[in-house]
Amino acid sequence: MTGSSTIKNVTILGSTGSIGIQTLQVIEKSNGIFNILYLTTNQNIDILAKQINKFKPKGVVISDYKSYLLFKKKYNFDIEILYGSEGLTEVASKSENDIVVSALVGFSGVAPTIAALNAGKNVALANKETLVSAGEHISNLAKERNAKIIAIDSEHNAIIQCLLGEELSKVEKIILTASGGPFLHSAHDTFEYVNVDEALAHPRWSMGKKISIDSATLMNKGFEVIEAHWLFNLKPEQIEVVIHPESIIHSLVQFVDGSIKAQLGPQDMRIPISFALNFPERLYYDFPRLDLLQVGSLNFQKPDTNKFPCLQLAYEALEMGGTAPAILNAANETAVQSFLEGKISFAKIPVCISYSLEKVEHMKKPTIEDIFETDKITREITLSFINKLN
Ligand code: MG
Repeated sequence: MTGSSTIKNVTILGSTGSIGIQTLQVIEKSNGIFNILYLTTNQNIDILAKQINKFKPKGVVISDYKSYLLFKKKYNFDIEILYGSEGLTEVASKSENDIVVSALVGFSGVAPTIAALNAGKNVALANKETLVSAGEHISNLAKERNAKIIAIDSEHNAIIQCLLGEELSKVEKIILTASGGPFLHSAHDTFEYVNVDEALAHPRWSMGKKISIDSATLMNKGFEVIEAHWLFNLKPEQIEVVIHPESIIHSLVQFVDGSIKAQLGPQDMRIPISFALNFPERLYYDFPRLDLLQVGSLNFQKPDTNKFPCLQLAYEALEMGGTAPAILNAANETAVQSFLEGKISFAKIPVCISYSLEKVEHMKKPTIEDIFETDKITREITLSFINKLN
């Protein structure tokens, strides 16, 4: 351990998910410079128990009430054990936190992320739905409280790295790269018959279920466009998406003099996670290095928005503004869940989102309460549409 003043207290919201687990791997490799305050899970109590034994947090939150009861029955840890969204909000806003890692899945990440920013805490953000649904509110709040949002997502993390030492006003555009997902080369008419396993089999990254499906529909890239708008204060037309199947360039920034900077690296989320945790410093880690000679060549192509309408829908929602991105997100979350449950085909995901964007009442200047209400209503409307489809 180094001197106590250099130790950073970290709370990980969603520590048993893909990003949470990899964040703990980075922390393990960080020579004691991070101290774990709180870990949280929804239902993965056995993984959480292992994490408690290893990382000795001050406390944990189990969002799902049944899992919380089961955890109390099965394990006997002498630490704080909280539950529900109240528990998440409470630990996210603790004054001892130096960094809050927001790695919850879906809209459930919005309230705790707001709580952390409201308490003036720096947030390492992996939860996309927060900036997609409540981007304006979140970015204003961060400015007001002087809290930093450091994106973990490889694309935005790449943009942050490309912008070091640069002025935002000198950015002409940014280019977000997309692998294209597992169906880049599949014929469009096969989308009606795609099964869940095929959709989950991402060619480049190993990720959680929700984001894997979002990557297969390209909604993930659409969300990243909306996030980039809020993170970097760019107009929709300044945010371009390019398919780059090798996923070696994580994103690029084009400046007013025609210069382009890119950030490259292996497909290892621990690299952007370590950058976000240590920001603004850069520390040594023994992660795998990129071998350019082995990569050989890099390819680029235009995304096919006829085949992947979700990307276009995201741009449209961003242009509409107000509650439209929140509607987009809630409809998508509902449709993806229904696809995972076998209730709708893969091809129906954008159909459901399109329907809800038309159907749900749109507000131009929503309050944060309006956004929560819109999220709720959109889920109901999307679900009743899905039930009618069957
Ligand atoms: Mg990404």
